[in-house]
Parts: sequence; structure tokens; C-alpha cells
Amino acid sequence: PIISVVGNCSECIKKDEKELKCVNSCPFDAIFKDSQAGRIRVDADKCEGCGECVKACSLERIVDKIQYMPIVNLLKDKKVPVYATIAPAYIGQFGDEVTPGKMRTALKMIGFKDLIEVALFADIISIREAIEFKNLVKNVGDFMITSCCCPIWMSLLKRHYKELVEHVTPSVSPMIASGRVIKKICPDAKVVFIGPCIAKKSEAKEPDIKDAIDYVLTFDELNEIFKALNIDPSKLEGDVSEYSSKGGRIYARVGGVSECIIDTLNKLSPNHPIEVKDAHANGVKECKQLLDKALKGELDVNFLEGMGCIGGCVGGPRVMVDKELGKECVNRYGNEAQYHTPLDGPCAMEVLR
Ligand code: SF4
Ligand code: SF4
Repeated sequence: PIISVVGNCSECIKKDEKELKCVNSCPFDAIFKDSQAGRIRVDADKCEGCGECVKACSLERIVDKIQYMPIVNLLKDKKVPVYATIAPAYIGQFGDEVTPGKMRTALKMIGFKDLIEVALFADIISIREAIEFKNLVKNVGDFMITSCCCPIWMSLLKRHYKELVEHVTPSVSPMIASGRVIKKICPDAKVVFIGPCIAKKSEAKEPDIKDAIDYVLTFDELNEIFKALNIDPSKLEGDVSEYSSKGGRIYARVGGVSECIIDTLNKLSPNHPIEVKDAHANGVKECKQLLDKALKGELDVNFLEGMGCIGGCVGGPRVMVDKELGKECVNRYGNEAQYHTPLDGPCAMEVLR
């Protein structure tokens, strides 16, 4: 299991289950008080790894699985090239002065061969999603559920809304795409995904996609490594610039996936007969409400995006700055992009080919 309870929670166990912050925080009813054993437990079958309970426990007794040691050993061994792929939400997380170039230098200092932005793979997936929309939504009443980047959204669909799965596009997440492309180009490479998300640790281990990402590191875990090695990324020289479009960069905040795919569709197929009407669910509660509406046939939209965390990945369980600041940084980085949509730059199309 990705989530575990450490220690005996001796104070909380005396309280009524209804008063327990961890129990109340879980949108999937996966945490419970085991009165007989005198412990708080996580039901691994129900847990989606959203990380809400980790945030809720002020005593830090609920933790996610940490993969420091195998990553450190891999980097120390230097037997194979190890690539870092980093989630679009990273902008602003390590301080305002840490540019993508400085982050690349810092990661190379700890042994990574290179840093690749997942935003570039969000670009690639968006082109595929725009084509899917063109093919799936041809008539009034048709709708498409973007598989987008969020494993919580996908788990909800696969576990609790099976009837809607036929409307979900078959794309893998940008994280998985990043690992697969790197390994296609460099077959002996290992890939470490860095992000704000605990659920990505589970996604990386899913049987049909576990070939792509070897380890997942969260922003705060990476920060601990920097501190232990006395590396201050803000003080380093920047190394090479980035090629992702605005669209791929804003995936990190709620609504960004829709905006990117709609802009791509409008560019790809300006005369598509059906206008895109999008809805983006912000957090698990809204995800469930939107999917309930879809089940009941009450939708007045034809494009559905869902993000398990409020605010999107900038509100993920392992971010290091407030989600509003994270969103501001992501929007600013998006506006600085040389290319507006994934179709405007050469990189996404080149990788797709
Ligand atoms: S990680 Fe999320 S789903 Fe799992 S127990 Fe914690 S709150 Fe519940
Ligand atoms: S919205 Fe939250 S759960 Fe979903 S991918 Fe982002 S950080 Fe992970």
C-alpha cells in the first residue's frame, strides 16, 4: 500500500470515529478506527492514494511510501542513465528564482542525466485528445471524458463509474508518456517522475503501464535531497531552455487541460461542427457530482475534465507553496511560452512522428 499509519495514534483512538480528522478527510471511506485492535487503519482496497489524510493528520502519523533509497542508489551506481521527468506544477515550488534551467542544473548535480518537462508530453497527449474529440463528439448529446493527467479521476471512473468508461479517451497520462518516450529513445534508461502527487506513486505501479516510470519522488522529498546535499538551485547557472507550449504548462491548474485541448482542437479543426462545451471538476467532491450528472444524462456539456485536488496539481498533497501562488506561477510560466498550442512548436509533432 502507498499509504500507511505509523505509530499507535494513542490520543486519537480514544475519540469517536466521527471526530477523527483523518477519517473525515477521506473521500473514499478508506480510513477507519479499528476499536478491537486499538488502531487507525487504511483499507488498501478502497484507498486511492489522494493524500487527503496525509494532509489532515497534524501529528504526521499517516505517511506515503518514500522511495529515497532506491533512487539514491541508482544515482550513485551510475550504471544506467537516469532521467528526471517533472510535473508542470513545479514552477514556483522551489522559489521564484528557480528557473527550469536552474532546476536542470541542480538535478544533474545529484546524478540525473537530464531533466525533461512533463509539460512537453502534456502537449503531445493534448494533440491526441483533440483528435479523439473530433472523432467522438460528432452530434449533439455526444460527450467525451478526457483521461487527462489525474489518477484519482481515472480511479473514480474505473472503480465507481464503470458505465462511463466508454466515454473516456484511451490516452495514457503525460507522466506515463514521458517515461515511455524516454525508454524508446534510450532503452536502458531509468525514469524518475517528480511531482506534487501521492497517487502517481500508485499509478506508476499499475500492471499495464508499469514499464514507464521506475520511481516517483515528490517535491518535498526532492527538496530534502537538495538540503542533504547542500544544493541551492536558486544559486546555480541555468542549463538550456524549455520547448513546451503554454497549453502543456497550464495542465497543472484546474481548467488547464480543457483550455489546452480546446485551443488545440480549434487550431486543428476550426470548422468542427460541434462547439466544445467544457466542465472541469475541482476536487473529488466535484468530480463525483459531475460524473453523477453524466450517469443520469443531465449533462449540458460535451467535454469533461476532473482533478482530484482542489485547484488541480498546484493543490496537490505534496506541494510546497500555497495553491493560489502555485497557480499564479504556472499561469505566468504558461504566458512566457514561445508557443501557444502544442501544434505551434516543432517538438510535440516531432515526438509524435
Ligand atoms: S490517501 Fe486518500 S483515499 Fe487513501 S486513505 Fe488517505 S484520504 Fe483515503
Ligand atoms: S490533481 Fe492531485 S491527485 Fe490529481 S494528478 Fe494532480 S496532484 Fe495528483
